[in-house]
Order: sequence, then structure tokens, then C-alpha cells
Amino acid sequence: MAQGFSGKILHVNLTNRKINIETPPENFYRKYFGGSAMGMYYILKELSPGVDPFSPQNVLTFMLSPLTGVAIAGQSRMTVNAKSPLVDGIGDAQAGGFFPAEMKFTGFDGIVIRGKAAQPVYLLIRDGEVEIRDASHLWGKTTGDVEILLKEELQDPKIEIAQCGPSGEKLVRLAAIMNMANRANGRTGMGAVMGSKNLKAIVVRGSSRKVQVAHPEAVADFGKQSSAAIKDHGSSQGLKRDGTAGGVSWQNTTGTLPTRNYNEGQFEGADSLAGDVMTETILKGNDTCFACAIRCKRVVEAEWMDQAIEGRYGGPEYESVATLGSYCGVGDLKAVAYANQLCNEYGLDTIGTGATVAWAMECFEQGLLTEEEVGFPLNFGDAKAMVRATEMLAKREGFGDILAEGSRKAADKLGKGHKFLITVKGSELPAHMPRVKPSLGLIYAVGPFGADHQSSEHDAGIEEGTSPKALQSLRAIGVDEAAPENSMGVEKIKIVHKTHQYYSFLDSANLCQFVFGLTWVVHGPQDIITLTRAVTGWNDFNAKELLLIGERRLNMMRVFNMREGLDSSDDTLPEKLFIPLQGNGPSANTAYSRDVLDFAKEKYYHLSGWDPKNGEPTKETLVRLGLNWKQ
Ligand code: SF4
Repeated sequence: MAQGFSGKILHVNLTNRKINIETPPENFYRKYFGGSAMGMYYILKELSPGVDPFSPQNVLTFMLSPLTGVAIAGQSRMTVNAKSPLVDGIGDAQAGGFFPAEMKFTGFDGIVIRGKAAQPVYLLIRDGEVEIRDASHLWGKTTGDVEILLKEELQDPKIEIAQCGPSGEKLVRLAAIMNMANRANGRTGMGAVMGSKNLKAIVVRGSSRKVQVAHPEAVADFGKQSSAAIKDHGSSQGLKRDGTAGGVSWQNTTGTLPTRNYNEGQFEGADSLAGDVMTETILKGNDTCFACAIRCKRVVEAEWMDQAIEGRYGGPEYESVATLGSYCGVGDLKAVAYANQLCNEYGLDTIGTGATVAWAMECFEQGLLTEEEVGFPLNFGDAKAMVRATEMLAKREGFGDILAEGSRKAADKLGKGHKFLITVKGSELPAHMPRVKPSLGLIYAVGPFGADHQSSEHDAGIEEGTSPKALQSLRAIGVDEAAPENSMGVEKIKIVHKTHQYYSFLDSANLCQFVFGLTWVVHGPQDIITLTRAVTGWNDFNAKELLLIGERRLNMMRVFNMREGLDSSDDTLPEKLFIPLQGNGPSANTAYSRDVLDFAKEKYYHLSGWDPKNGEPTKETLVRLGLNWKQ
């Protein structure tokens, strides 16, 4: 067995309380590597088509990689997959923190959950020992309270907890799985799947504190060089100083800060939401993920409307600032931080939540929703209304019961508001606008689990590929030239297609994109290859194999979705994106072109080896990827 892996996958059936430990062969690990590629293997093999995401038959996977837990920056991440209750196709969500490394220290590379417990339970995993315990006393409790209660109950302050939160219990389709009460496997409703299984939490504690690696000296050298490089790296230091919210000003200046439900790309209140303002006003400290010297996570403390904003719930990322802020027309940073806290307390995806509230705001302003239906005026820019709607959504209270379905299913239930939706495959768009970042239009459209901003290199990064370091990274994945930021020609599509595979590998290796992305970060593909060889001992691991793993993951998701009835017609963008933007700034009056999307999709399918008409992976493609077992 290669090093890096524990060599064990934990299988838990909550219906009959059976616990099995699988020891897959090395070639399984080499083929699927980890993360969602590994999760997809179990989901695709076991899940029958058409299963209700909330039924006990749904399979919920938590997967690590050989690199998880190795003491270097950017490796402590975990991917969760299941059939999504939000998109009715595959669900996929990543999170960092300390839970992933701690889970690795228990001796497992992954957990596969099946069935449904008769009563609320939690899973306790300590050094390879596994117990299913009663969680009735935790049901209904917020994430922060569960952290306290379980640490007291187990008399161990060092346990790590991944939990579904009260929103997951109530099957809110935007529910996240939270660890540390402030790190979210946020997207596609994975918290609701966990809640549907009556699984309140997974608790992990491992005493080994070490991952066995093939070449310890090489790994130690890599760690030392990485720490030194981070100290001198401008973008990493910028992340440390202002967090991801440091991007607010750039996004606003370039007209890609979604404002008032994607009606505008520049927000007049952006200055008060900026990362440096957060740093100077409410930031109390930095937090990090296991062994990461960048420490980009925010810890904010303040008061909003006599409500405490507590450091234990972290602080808002760029996406949360934009979706709960400018997306809703709200420029009150403390209100945004408080809404972010509510999301972390109840276990919600901030992107889906902010965007769903913004959609409801537009419906209200356009007269499709009345005060009687909502319970209060829900106008853009009303911070109190944004917070109130967020809380009601989290608790499924009143009109929040409709919002808890996510915007697309809410529109379906209400029978109105479809023209204001900002969703792909039912998942709300993140805060990066395809009008300014045109390649994201393609990636949002073809993304297997809906619009995702972390699935490819953004256009500005690709253009930046003219810098020596970035070009070196692009060349390592087979891209010889950078491409202008605003182009969508064949060359750009080829680049984006490759970066989609690269980022898909990152979500299989569970590596942080702020450390191991492509163009503006401290490490790149060559470093991953060096590290993978040093950790696993696979001394011939190379870029081709890396990209193949990413491509395999995307194809497994595609196959899953097609089996669930999704097809090429689902690879599209919200109608609003084809309408000229309002407002000011460089993106005003611009629209995304349907012709560009159609052209890009056709090229993307061709490059992927998919049927040009319906986008189905061809038999040859599946054979090439070693996925013919699914037939
Ligand atoms: S860069 Fe930030 S998110 Fe990424 S591993 Fe480091 S602390 Fe975590």
C-alpha cells in the first residue's frame, strides 16, 4: 500500500447500525485518489436512479486524500457528496478547518453513510474505534452549543465535530455541514441530507497526529520551503491581512460585484463592506486550517442591533459579504456579519441563503410578493429585512419555510418569480459575474452541481498567465499561452477546459485553492506532483495522471446527472444574464451572449469526448477513463 493513505474506508449503515471497515487495494486509491472522485465511486455504484435525496437510500460520503493531515499548508480539507436535494443531481461541497486532519488521524480515509437512524444519533470515531451514540439531547441545538456540549460530554476539548445544524435537521435545502461552528461544506444541501439521516454529528479524535509518508525528509523540506515562500508571497500575505473579503474592492471596481440580485455589477456601498474595513473595524483575530501558515480565516466580534457577533462563529468570507451584502443591496458590514453568524449557527450555505433572500427581495420590489405573504416589507438595501429573512429561512419559520427550499424550488412552489432566478441546475450563483469573467459563464453552465466559482481558473488569472510563475503553472497542465481576460475564442475554451480538470483534481486531492491554485497563489501543479510523490511514494505520478483524475471525477458526476434525467438543456445560464446590466461601472449595459454560450458548450463537449447533442460521455471516453464499470 502506498503511504499517505490510512488504507481504510469506514462504512456505517444507520438503519441497522452495522459498521464495516473496507480495506481497498492500492489501485483503487491511485485511480480515485480521494475527495469527491472517491465519493463518486460509491455513490455511482450504489445509488439507484431516481432516489429521493431525503430517503434512507441516499449515500452520503465524507472523503479525504493521501495529502490530508500532512503538516503542510492547504491540505486539511474534506469533500462531502450525496445526491443533492437542491439540484436533484449530484451534490458536492468542500470545507477546510481542523476536522479533516483529525479525521485522518483516526485512521480512516473516508466515511460512507447509508440508511437512516431511528432516533437522532452521532458517530464517535476515536483512534479507529467507532460508536453510534444517542444525540436526542443535541437535536435542535445550534452548532456553537453542540460544540460545547459534546466537548463537555466527552471530556475532551480537542475533539473535532462536523454537524448538520438545526437547518439540516429541518431539511432546509440550503443546509451546510459545519465544523468548528464556522467552516462549511456549504453548497448543494449536504447538511439537509445529513439531517434526513438523523445524523446530528460526526465526532473525530485521533492520537497518532501523524501521517505515514514515503519520503519523510522530502516532505519536511517541502514544508519548510512552503512556510518560507508564504512569508514572502504578496497574495498570501494579502489573504492573511484582509481575508477573502479583500477581493470586494477589486470585484466592485471591475464591475463584477453582484448587486441587487445580479441587476448591477457595481455597488455604491462596497467601500463599507471591503476587507480592509473589516480588518480595521470588527476583526479580532485570524484563524486557520490545520498546519496552514496563511491563516486567512476571519474572527470578528461586534454588536448589531443589540445582538452579539461572537468570534466562535468566525467571520464572513468574500462570498458571504457579497451575497448577504451587495446581492441584497445591503452595505451594513455588521448586519452582514450577524447574518453570516446566523448561517454558521444554524448551518446554512451563505451563498445560497443570501442569493435566495435577494431573489425574494426582487420579487417583492416587482410586486410578485406582497407584505402579507412575506410578513414584512422585503426591499433591497433593508439590512433588518435581510437578517430577518435569513433567520426565518434558517428556522423554516413563516415565509422562511418557502425560502428554505432555495430560490428555484421556492419559485416552483409559488408558481412565480422564475424570471428573477439566478440559478443553474437549481443552485444559486456565487458572487463572480460571467459578464466580466466570461469563462465562468461556460463553467457555471456545464458544472455538474450547478454554478461554482471554484471549479476553474478565472479569466483575470488566465490573462495573468503572462507572468513567469503563472505561465509555468499553466504550462505544467499543458497550456502554452495565456489568453486575454475578455476573450471566449477556441484557445480560451481549451484553457478553461484544462483548468476545469485541474480544479477538479484539487477537489479530489482536497487541496486549498488559495495555496495550490494555478496563477496567483504560492504553489502550483509541479509542487503538487513533488508532494504527491514524496507522500505516496508513487515516483512516476505526473501532470497527465493528475488531470486524468480530475477528468474522471467530472465524468462520473456527468454520468450520475444524466441517469437522474439532467441533460444538455440543463447546461445553461439564468435568463437574467442575457439581459444588459443596469447601474454604473465597466459592466453596465453588458449582457452575456447566448451565441457565445452555445459555441463554448459545443467546444467544451467536443474537448471532453461527450456527445455533441446531449453532452453524454461517449463509451470511448468512459473506457479511456476506466469508467466502463458503470455501464
Ligand atoms: S489559505 Fe486559508 S482556507 Fe486555505 S488552508 Fe490556509 S487558512 Fe485554510
